[in-house]
Amino acid sequence: MKNPDEQGFYGEYGGAFVPEMLYPNVAELQAKYLEILAQADFQQELQQLLHAYAGRPSPLYYSGYLSAKYGGKIYLKREDLNHTGAHKINNALGQILLAARMGKQEIIAETGAGQHGVATATAAALMGMPCKVFMGEVDMARQAPNVARMRMLGAEVVAATSGSRTLKDATNEAIRYWINNPEAYYLIGSVVGPHPYPDLVARLQAVISAELLEQVPAHSGRPLPDKVVACIGGGSNAAGAFYHYIEQPDVQLIAVEAGGKGIASGQSAATSQLGSIGIIHGSRTLLMQDADGQIIEPYSISAGLDYPGIGPMHAHLISSGRAQVYSINDDQALAAGVALSRHEGILPALESAHALAVLPELDIHPDDITVVCLSGRGDKDLQTYLDYLHIND
Ligand SMILES: *Cc1c(COP(=O)(O)O)cnc(C)c1O
Repeated sequence: MKNPDEQGFYGEYGGAFVPEMLYPNVAELQAKYLEILAQADFQQELQQLLHAYAGRPSPLYYSGYLSAKYGGKIYLKREDLNHTGAHKINNALGQILLAARMGKQEIIAETGAGQHGVATATAAALMGMPCKVFMGEVDMARQAPNVARMRMLGAEVVAATSGSRTLKDATNEAIRYWINNPEAYYLIGSVVGPHPYPDLVARLQAVISAELLEQVPAHSGRPLPDKVVACIGGGSNAAGAFYHYIEQPDVQLIAVEAGGKGIASGQSAATSQLGSIGIIHGSRTLLMQDADGQIIEPYSISAGLDYPGIGPMHAHLISSGRAQVYSINDDQALAAGVALSRHEGILPALESAHALAVLPELDIHPDDITVVCLSGRGDKDLQTYLDYLHIND
């Protein structure tokens, strides 16, 4: 199923498990989002921004290198070429227009890799709205250039100093702020959180597969791809790449999680494989937790995949067998990112490099058409790549 039921459930996953004080905020959004998204002038304004501001449609690029190496025809959906360097701008632009139509005057957000913070700060600057971005202290150090970009864009970056000082702590801080400042609009960056966020973000990212519906036939001569591959942190680029193919059973959906140092190493973010059902950030989904229900700190070399949960849509797609999930370790992702840089001149985000690294593990038929969602560009990860290559050390 590509959309949840009225209570926000995809099968047994999803819903809105929020403290009573947040209930009015969430209920207001639930009541309004579909109606506003359907308005002709909303769609017109969004399409105009996606086109003239974000640079859409993003190209579908045939990779001769990947095709020769792994078989069939392999295409890259170039979300890395969007303004701000990743798919996250699609969602930020949609939600900021929604916030404006709901009469909201302040934007708050959480960020891990900093990409969602940058996308949100960008959209807030565009709309002239004040913006606070909550970010774990550890992530602020790992992603210093994105912190600088957010400040340059006029956003206030608020350090989350509790717990592991990464994305989940930033999310907790943002929710706490929202409880105390219910007039703010909370701009969530992935298909996570209480209903309606997973559905809202999936619908806004669905532009990725909407474009593929035209680009795949135009490039390949066939109506449908055989495989669509995307990495999963919370799951928004995957939700967008899968969306219009979910009800096409011939299209294989392949989700790639961060295995970190290995699934059995204790340092991993392979949520769907290591996780069990619980409630995280207002949603019932698969998450990594111990026997007492305490969240286990996730680990990945990629800050954008370093999240202990997975969106409810993906929990459902994976547990129902509609999507297959793989995990890719740090070193495999690094090698895949270096290879794409050296052979195609495309420097992928470490998150996207996880999706590329699954190609050798897939059973690719010579006739297959495979689309890999290249969710973002790797400039932010340059130092990590250089350290891996022992360049400049
Ligand atoms: C944030 C991010 C991701 C992970 O987020 P999803 O919601 O799972 O898409 C993946 N790739 C890039 C480049 C990102 O910035």
